[in-house]
Order: sequence, then C-alpha cells, then structure tokens
Amino acid sequence: MHQLTKTDFKYYLDCPESIWLLKNKPDVYPKGEFSLFAEKLIKEGYEVEAYAKQLFTNGVDLPEYGSPTATQNALTDRHTVYFQPSFSTNTNIFARIDILERLPDGTWHIYEVKSSTSIKKGRKYRQIEDVCFQKYVLTACGYIVSKVSIIHLNKAYVKQGAIVANELLEITDVTEAVDVIYSSVVNQINAASNFINKEIINETLCSCKHKTRINHCDAFGYFNTTIPDYSIYQLNGIREKKLNHLIDLGILDLNDIPDNLDIELSDKHYAQLNSIKAKKEAVNLEEVTTKLNSLKFPLHFFDYEGFGGAIPKLDGLKPHQQLVFQVSIHSLYKDGSIKHFEYLSHAMEMPNKLVEYMHSSTNGNTGTFICWHDTYERYRNKEMMIQVPKFESYLEYINSHLFDLKKLFYTGFAHYKFKGSASIKDVLPILVPSLSYKDKAVQDGTMALDTWGRMVLEPNFTEDKEVTRQHLLDYCELDTLAMVRIYEVLKETIK
Ligand code: SF4
Repeated sequence: MHQLTKTDFKYYLDCPESIWLLKNKPDVYPKGEFSLFAEKLIKEGYEVEAYAKQLFTNGVDLPEYGSPTATQNALTDRHTVYFQPSFSTNTNIFARIDILERLPDGTWHIYEVKSSTSIKKGRKYRQIEDVCFQKYVLTACGYIVSKVSIIHLNKAYVKQGAIVANELLEITDVTEAVDVIYSSVVNQINAASNFINKEIINETLCSCKHKTRINHCDAFGYFNTTIPDYSIYQLNGIREKKLNHLIDLGILDLNDIPDNLDIELSDKHYAQLNSIKAKKEAVNLEEVTTKLNSLKFPLHFFDYEGFGGAIPKLDGLKPHQQLVFQVSIHSLYKDGSIKHFEYLSHAMEMPNKLVEYMHSSTNGNTGTFICWHDTYERYRNKEMMIQVPKFESYLEYINSHLFDLKKLFYTGFAHYKFKGSASIKDVLPILVPSLSYKDKAVQDGTMALDTWGRMVLEPNFTEDKEVTRQHLLDYCELDTLAMVRIYEVLKETIK
C-alpha cells in the first residue's frame, strides 16, 4: 500500500492524476528538476524550525529521527513537548509533527511551523488543510488533539542584533479554522489514499486539456500525447473560455486557427499567429520604432541579483526582504561604443557601495535604464531608497527612466519559436544563437543567490572564492549583454 504524506496530499488536492503517476510509475514521471528554489525553501524551513524550537525550553528531540515506533515509546514518558514526532495510521497515512505538546488534561496541541509571515490560505498554500492532515493522523492513531497552532514569522520584525525567537515568530491558534473544514478534509484524505492505491486510471487524457498552461504540471505531455509542438496552449495568457472554444472546434494546433475565427483573440495572440503562418518573426514596426526611438542615450542595460531569505541576515532587514548584492551594467552610448560595469559585494552588507558605484559608473542621472521584467528592479530601487538615502534622487531617477525591454515581446515582436514566452531565456537563443546560458556555471538568479549566500555566510565554504566570484560575474554580465544584443536585433529589424 502506498504511503500518503502531507506533501502527497497537497499534490493530490492539486491534481489526483499527477500524484497517482508519481506513486505508481515513478520511472515515467517526467522529472521536473528538483529545483534549487525548492531546496532553498526546505533549508529555510529548517532555519525557522530551529528558532521555533527555542520557544519551548522543555522540548525533547526523539531518537531514530522520531520514527513512529520511537515516537510511540517516547510519548509514554513524562515530557510535555516533543520535536518531530511521527505517526502512521494502519492505512499508511504518515505525518511528522513539527512540535507536539502534551496539555495538562492529557490531550495534545499540534504546532506546525511555516516560513510565511502570515497564515496562508488558498490553493497555493493550503496551510489549514496541512494542519487538518496532521490532526487526522494523530486522531486515527488514538490521540486526542484539542488545539492546533501555526508558528510563523512576524512580518513586522526587523532584525537588530541577535535574533530573539519570540520576537521573530508568532503563534496563531487555528483550532477553529481547522474545525470548520476538518470533516471535509478527512473525506479528501481518504479519497486521496484510495486514489493513489488504484491499480489503473485513464492515462490517455487528463483534465488539464481544458485548462490554460499555467495549470499544467510536468506530466501534461505524458497524459496528452496528441498535443502538437506549437499548440493553442502557447497563446500567451489565453483565457480558459477561449481555449475551450478552440478545443470544441477541434483546433489544437496553432497552424489550424483560421483567419475567420468566430471569436476575437488579443493583439498578442494575433502577433503569434502571424508569426507561425509566416514561419518567421512578426513585427509591429510602428510600436517597436516608436518605443525604441523614445529612449534617451546613454542606454544603461542593467540587472540586479538579490539575496533574500526567511530569516534576515543583516540588521535593518525584515523576514524575506531582498538585499541587492550584485549589479551588471552595459552602457551603450550614442556613438555606438559600449562600456561594461560590474559590482559584486564581498560581504553581507547594505548596498551603499553598490549604489555609489552605479551612480559613478552611469554618471548620475543620465539616459535610460533598461532591464528585463521591470517589477524586480523597480522594487529593489524603492527598497534601496530607504537603505541608502544619500542616493534617493538617483534611484528615483532610475525608476522614472526605466524601460522594460521584455514588454516589446508581447505585441511588438513575436516569434512562434518563443512558444508564447517572453522570458529572456527563451528569446535569446532564437534572436542571438551565439550567446548562451548553457555553459555558465551559474545558470539563474536562484543559483546566483544560493552561491553568493554560501560564499559569504558559511565559514567552511570549500570552493575557490575567486573562481566562484568570476562565475557570478560572468552570469550577471551575460544577462545585460544579452539585452544589448537583443536591442541590436530590434534596431536592425526596424531599419
Ligand atoms: S497536466 Fe494537469 S490534470 Fe494533467 S496530470 Fe498535470 S496537473 Fe494533473
């Protein structure tokens, strides 16, 4: 009988077919990378848990990593608080409880530790369903649970000196919220356990055929083998109603969408369709020309890397607040010359030196600042206005002269080979195949922050620091050089 854990149950609530495949045919389950981001979340969870344990001076760790047998034996002793006890029902439903407290009347209080700054409900988090699951397993094992709480980060906390656990964390009683949904969640838990233990399910189709791409998991291709390479799911941001209209018409391939379609698509979609029909890029010359001609030289193509984590590492920071530690700038001048500037912090520190370096490299309030997906850079600038008040007007200038190159790839420039994506990682290989992220030691922003964080925080960091710094510099440099080269392709297109 397959084991059902809290994580499995969350997967089941997202999609029964996907967890069935993972449990029953792990070899064919498409291995989405176990991303560094997921690893980072797990590491952060351990860090928060370590502080949560400090709230209970009388807590005990269990032997054998708190296996169900060790737990059962330990709970007969005189202690009141246990860390990481685990329980398994006779139908193989398994729960590991973060912190369990024996109350004076002999009933139990479950504490679940989360690295969020509030109780998160809704499909993405399902924190109340999580604790219902824990309560169910304990109850099925014969324990009476009378109270359930979630320990989470205090969003108003600002680090000043050593971290004090009861300032960093808050305990929220969720007993009532659990009671409201408990019986329906129990039904779902039993349904999940039955479903993952089914011998066969329909593997030739899954319900995401009728949902937009954002809902699909890595197993979409496994369950839907007839979806063509350039499919209607790639229509950028298409609404479910329109997607299903196309399916009802028997259209799955972008090439099959007729000119006289009986529903209106968006400009973005028509740009994609024009491109696939022409088998080359589709350019809105007026839009691209107007936008590029509005840019004021010099053009500063820039990109930040930021470090953030559940537990703030520097005085003045809040939980999850980002700290900019690196910047790359390629400045393109009117005469066509290009200069590259880069800064990478040597330590966990406020970005004073970084902003000062930017200011002198870009010659103060001059030109246009160009980035890819401006939300991130814009917010970092707002935070740095507070962290580095001396350069507030410079950072204000950047934000009011910010141009998001990515937005030109919505309606201005479409290419069917982008497959409906405007990510620089999808645009670059099509427009500038000579530049690539593939051979870089640092591949993305998460890897950059993880590498830099380990380098400056871990006393026994074993890799060569100079080589590591160079890898980080190479990655960020490529981000801004890529923007320059893409800009050049666009300029060439409108000539
Ligand atoms: S694509 Fe959707 S329905 Fe299909 S297995 Fe994945 S999540 Fe489930």
